[in-house]
Amino acid sequence: TLDTLMKFADLAMYRAKEDGRNCFRYFSKNLQDQVYARVELESEILRAIRLEEFQLFYQPRLSTNTMRIVGAEALIRWVHPEKGLIPPSSFIPMCEETGLIEHGGEWVMMTAAAQQVQWRDRGFDLNMSVNLSPRQFRNGELAQKVAACLQATGCRPDAFEFEITESIIMSKDDRVSSVIADLSALGVRLSIDDFGTGYSNLAMLQDFPVDCLKIDRSFISGLAKNRAIADMIVSLAKLMGMKIVAEGVETAEQLTWARAKGCHEFQGFFFSRPVTAEQFEQLLAAS
Ligand code: C2E
Ligand code: MG
Ligand code: MG
Repeated sequence: TLDTLMKFADLAMYRAKEDGRNCFRYFSKNLQDQVYARVELESEILRAIRLEEFQLFYQPRLSTNTMRIVGAEALIRWVHPEKGLIPPSSFIPMCEETGLIEHGGEWVMMTAAAQQVQWRDRGFDLNMSVNLSPRQFRNGELAQKVAACLQATGCRPDAFEFEITESIIMSKDDRVSSVIADLSALGVRLSIDDFGTGYSNLAMLQDFPVDCLKIDRSFISGLAKNRAIADMIVSLAKLMGMKIVAEGVETAEQLTWARAKGCHEFQGFFFSRPVTAEQFEQLLAAS
């Protein structure tokens, strides 16, 4: 029908736009399937938000010296009634694309801050960190939202950390620098996640009020094969005078290396995977 023809033509046009415009794309069954799958995922996510199927897991961050839990990274999970635990890589990109992340990110922030306060009140004053995606960062209202979150939950700004990627900092977007300045003025901490994987201009990085570098886990897991690179990345971080966290520590050897290189903290499966708040409390009690 004319209707279907127009719809299919539309799909091809959207694909051409996505591929950078100024080109043409043919409609295909494959294209249609991809679009349907996306629409389906989006409506599934909306349903999951309504049914409160999202849950925060927490991964402990430990001091390499004392081996005590000093922080927690909040990592989102979708607890699907049929499919079980769905990792963020399966839905964060879609949330980013559709803007759902702005709403979701606020929920993550509020939940994590409230959890920090709950644990603090029980004598565990941990550094709580949450991940930010580029879209949230470009939202000019982020700092206001953070201020409101701290106010509502009673979480101290210096116990709250935002993990951002090198690419966000390097984006040369004026809004990004002003949001960073606003966040810093609130007193919250900033860390660079997956450090070493981007193409950071180190001089530029030093212009930002960054407190901590999280060494990407690819360097840690690649230690056996390529120790020189991992050594260099940590030395670089040290030269910049920042707190260093080794990510993805899975073995005792990797921990020994992180300690010897002077990484202040580590997180990884060696001590614990990301776990539910209840399980995290058991880890705290045992520490
Ligand atoms: P990330 O922030 O770099 O988080 C670390 C990821 O490494 C987590 O995967 C964690 O489970 C995994 N990991 C930790 N220790 C080990 C280890 O020893 N070995 C291995 N192989 N993996 C380890 P996860 O939870 O699947 O999260 C993936 C990414 O999704 C995160 O990477 C983060 O960028 C993003 N993400 C998670 N939660 C949120 C959120 O609430 N908001 C946003 N914007 N992004 C999120
Ligand atoms: Mg992270
Ligand atoms: Mg990371």
